[in-house]
Formats: sequence, structure tokens, C-alpha cells
Amino acid sequence: MAKLAINGGKPVRTKLFPAYNTIGEEEKRAVMKVLDSGNLSQFLGAWHKDFYGGPTVQQFEKDWASFFGNKYAISVNSNTSGLFTAIGALGIKAGDEVIVSPYTMSASALAPVIYGAVPVFADVDYNNYGLDPESVERCITPRTKAILVVHIFGNPARMDEIMAIARKHNLYVIEDCAQAPMATYKDKYVGSIGDIGIFSLNYHKHIHTGEGGIVVTNNDQIAERVYLIRNHGENIVEPKGIKDVYNTFGYNYRMTEMEAAVGIEQLKKLPALIEERLKNAAYMATEFGKIEGFTPPLVESSSKHVYYLQAIKYKKEILGVDRNTFINALKAEIPSAILREDTPLISPGYVKPLYLQPLYQQRATHCSFNCEKYKGSVDYSKGICPNAEKLHFDELFTHEYMRPGMSKSDLDDVIAAFRKVAENINELKVAASA
Ligand SMILES: *Cc1c(COP(=O)(O)O)cnc(C)c1O
Repeated sequence: MAKLAINGGKPVRTKLFPAYNTIGEEEKRAVMKVLDSGNLSQFLGAWHKDFYGGPTVQQFEKDWASFFGNKYAISVNSNTSGLFTAIGALGIKAGDEVIVSPYTMSASALAPVIYGAVPVFADVDYNNYGLDPESVERCITPRTKAILVVHIFGNPARMDEIMAIARKHNLYVIEDCAQAPMATYKDKYVGSIGDIGIFSLNYHKHIHTGEGGIVVTNNDQIAERVYLIRNHGENIVEPKGIKDVYNTFGYNYRMTEMEAAVGIEQLKKLPALIEERLKNAAYMATEFGKIEGFTPPLVESSSKHVYYLQAIKYKKEILGVDRNTFINALKAEIPSAILREDTPLISPGYVKPLYLQPLYQQRATHCSFNCEKYKGSVDYSKGICPNAEKLHFDELFTHEYMRPGMSKSDLDDVIAAFRKVAENINELKVAASA
């Protein structure tokens, strides 16, 4: 008789796991206060004190800057728009190249494209999953202007080596910290190591305001440009007396007072949420480590990984069936989504390496790689980043069962399901060969 649920056996658990919900009375009260004031956004797209937004937005920025120890924390309406302001603020333009990871959310690589520059994909480190410094160095050309680092899954990239390369070649370093608030590298918060860092406050992230983002920097000139790009800079440059108006045309990337009110309360909750996540992730890493063929992520001893996702390497040679077969069997044992949400709690791989997207394969833009100012010849062929491809297509699975709110018995159900599939793997081999 089959034991595995995918073959008709009894599943480990059918009861849904608790939703990850960090919004409570504190956020409700804060938003009501803003609603009562009638002032839902005080931004003015003119050179005026309200160019910097209303009192709640400015308070949130002050709180964020003091929490993370940055000179400037500038709110925006998403991490995506924050990445765009970073590229614009650094003066990156048509003809330039930016080195990016292919193993990240699509917006990281899109940011250079928006300003007409070309993303050049370096491979990821096979154990850390962030940019591999050696691959970065090989991608440098006379056109390279910046390295856009992503602290993927919450694990800090190899920053010392990346910063050394940047200094040697006079490049900017942009840190996409969407998945890594409070992650540290050698006792420094990520986002504070390079020239500019960007955090996400999207609903799916550790803390959120629905949609939102924060740009941090310690550089006065970069900060001034971020403010301009956030809020109709073309109106501001003349009255403010800005001489270098290049790239300071603005968008509307402004955060509302309500979102900022939520953000102030969410930031207070961040340390405890991270602590719980780390505790759960450590427990799961220990238990996963006991299953032969599974490798929990490598975290450098000087780094703090904050586990937006836990990425586990799966060895087909040891388990005897391929990763997707295993994950499908696992999904039959325990719920892989939560109530009213379709976003999976577990996925084979993460995202397809970005250069394989139609945008890059079809070179579907009039600017960037097709711009006449671009004198290079970027390669987006399959195979350019073998580690990213191997990890995504064959070896890695990512899960977020370690989210705060999961009890010890919830975690134990998850582990029991993994164990059960591993122990009854022969049932899957029979199915595969039948
Ligand atoms: C979520 C995410 C983004 C985009 O953030 P938004 O706030 O949704 O725009 C960018 N980069 C990474 C690595 C992300 O995880």
C-alpha cells in the first residue's frame, strides 16, 4: 500500500498553516489618526517645505534613518521605484553598463534599462546565491558604471570582495535589500555598505505598508537627486539653484501619510519579527541537515541572514529522483499555500535567470542594448550564468515555512512531511520508471 499522499496515502497534514499577518491594533490606530486629520499626503511638487512630504512621511524617514544609522532614509512608493531613483541619482545613462545578478526579482535588472543603460548578468556564488565576485570582475568593461548587488533571500552577498572590485575600477555599488532588512555583514547593516541601498515595503516582505520602499544613503549629492527624482525634480532645479540638472527630472514616487503611519509601527516590530524568523529558520536548517541529500544555505560566520526565504540545495544523485518530483510529492503531504492566497510557500527553484526573459531574449526595447550610444555587445544566451541555471532548474528549492506565526508543531509537521517523502522515496522511483 502506498504511503505517500501523492500515491493515495494519508497526507501528513491538511489543516492550513497560519497566515503571516503583522498588522494589528497599532497600525489601525495610526492610520485612523491620519484619516481623522484629513491629510492623506502633504507632498507638493514644487520648491516648498512640503517638497519633502507631510509630517508622518518625514517621521517615518527619521525613524528609519536612526534605526539603521543612515544619514538619509527617503521613502518611495516601492522598492522598484527606489531602484529606478538609484540608477538615476548615480547618473547612469545610455551607453553605460551595470552588472547585476540574474537570480533576483526582475526589477533589479530592469532599473538600468529604464535609464537606457544595459544590465550585464554576472553569475551567482554556488553556495551564497548572491553575486560571485570573480564573475563580476570578468564582466567589467570600460562601460561599466555600477554593480547592483542583491542580498538574495536575506543572505548578505560577499561584500568585501565586491567593494574591493568597485574601488579598483571606480564603480558605484547599489544594494537591493528588498529581502534583507536587518541583515548584517561584518556588523554592518546591508544597504549601508555600498553607495545606496533600497528596501521594499511590499506586502510580501518582512514588514510592509501594502506597497512602499525606502532608499538609504550617506551621500548628500545622491540624496538630493533621489528627492528630485521622487518628486517632479524638473520643477525644483531652478528655484533650488541646482546647476547639474542632468537626470534630475522627476517622477511621482511619493508615499502617502497612511502608508508612512503603518511603516512607523511596522518598523518597531521588525526586530522581534526577525528574531522569530531566525529561530524558526535555524530549527529547520538543523532538521533539514539531517535529511541526506539536503544542504541548508551557507551563511558566512560574519553575516546575519534574515531568511526572506530559506533556500535548500537538493541533491538528485543522493535522493534518486529529481527535485520537481520530490517537491510535488511534498506538496501533497502538507498545504503549500495559505487561506485566500495563491502565493506558494514552497517552490522548486526561485525565478528563472532573468536574461532568459523575453525582454532580453527578444531585446524588446528601443533603448538600452539597442541604443546607438551603446558600443558593447552584451550576451544574454542560455548558459552565460551556469550556477544560476543549475540552481534554479535542478538543485534549489525555496520555502517560507519559517515565517513568524508558525508554532513548533507547525514546523514539525513541515519537517515530518519532508522526512516522509525522503524515507519513502522508492515509491517515487517506481512511479518514475513505470
Ligand atoms: C520584492 C523585490 C523587489 C521589488 O520590490 P517592490 O517593493 O515590490 O517594488 C525588488 N528586488 C527584490 C530582490 C525583491 O525581492
